[in-house]
Amino acid sequence: MKRTYQELMADARKVVPEVTVDEVKSRLAANGKDVVLMDVREREEYREGHLSGALSLPRGFLEMRVEEAVPDRDAEIIAYCQGGTRSLIAGKILKDMGYRNVVSMAGGFGAWKGAGHEWRADRQFSADQLQRYSRHFILPEVGESGQAKLLDARVLLIGAGGLGSPTAYYLAAAGVGTIGIVDDDVVDRSNLQRQILHSDDRVGMPKVESAQKTLQGLNPDVKVIGYRERVTSENVRRLFADYDIIVDGCDNFPTRYLVNDACVFMNKPNVHGSIFQFEGQATVFWPGKGPCYRCLFPEPPPPGAAPSCQEAGVLGVLPGLVGCVQAVETMKLILGVGRPLVGRLLHFDTLAMEIKTLKLRRDPECPVCGDRPTVKELIDYEEFCGLRGGHDAPSPAA
Ligand SMILES: [Zn+2]
Repeated sequence: MKRTYQELMADARKVVPEVTVDEVKSRLAANGKDVVLMDVREREEYREGHLSGALSLPRGFLEMRVEEAVPDRDAEIIAYCQGGTRSLIAGKILKDMGYRNVVSMAGGFGAWKGAGHEWRADRQFSADQLQRYSRHFILPEVGESGQAKLLDARVLLIGAGGLGSPTAYYLAAAGVGTIGIVDDDVVDRSNLQRQILHSDDRVGMPKVESAQKTLQGLNPDVKVIGYRERVTSENVRRLFADYDIIVDGCDNFPTRYLVNDACVFMNKPNVHGSIFQFEGQATVFWPGKGPCYRCLFPEPPPPGAAPSCQEAGVLGVLPGLVGCVQAVETMKLILGVGRPLVGRLLHFDTLAMEIKTLKLRRDPECPVCGDRPTVKELIDYEEFCGLRGGHDAPSPAA
């Protein structure tokens, strides 16, 4: 049976009640949180302006995605488009799919805007960004709002070494907008076996400069700020102040305790990774939500008891595994999705290829994050780790 457009529309009108923009406004004001406001226009139209809190479900994806987005067939749905036609057809489809409570906003977004009601425009992505992050946009857990969060995020990496390399690579690729890197060292050929941000023709170049070149080449959309210095008790507050998340990829105990304490004092999540020969571990220390590094290790090992990569060696690809876990956890924290690795420690044994998850608890007796903290300000961490005099300062980044 052939049907004309007019007939289709008439059919849709029979089953999908139309409501005025003013009625929508008062319904939203009365019980906005129970109403599913569904924008069925194309992504570009949505991006340029939409009702606040509207779910973007373009007409072409409606049947495919609606059951996941709105599982409840009794949900109160207000569909709208630009002029009120597409939403009527969308409403008919929703009715056919068993959604009982669907209305269409007459006149659409055009009428809403014309009536002077409030609306909002999302971040405008450039053509380059739309292409670059297209696989993120498809994920409902990321989408355009998630990508905007990534672009607005500021992450500071401690060390541009074995751990910092993969973390920085993936964070830059993902469009984490501002990446700070602290490292006072230069590119060394003996580190290229694992520090993949750098290359042989850059031996002798400051690592932060080499990192900047690599990351900017990968994604010119992100800002990479290099700090060619060593994190110390004196500069840590200045370095951390502008960042939301700290990613610790250092390879020595004084820096690890310093980063931990500063993160606790400044209330910043610390995405931690460490490696030794064939084993590695990763966790997230988030002040107030889980333990800190000191809860696990109140005291540093005696000097020399835990040798560095330089002294003990390390399997080249191992920091790649651990650094990638740090990158994933950082992304999750920025996006606010999933279950962060807080209170859990992932342990990698690459020879046996076993990955264990250990449960961690905050220690109420912890000297920095416990109930009665005894360490309330930054201390001399070299001295704390028994490294004053005699011992050389260990290398700054894994
Ligand atoms: Zn603690």
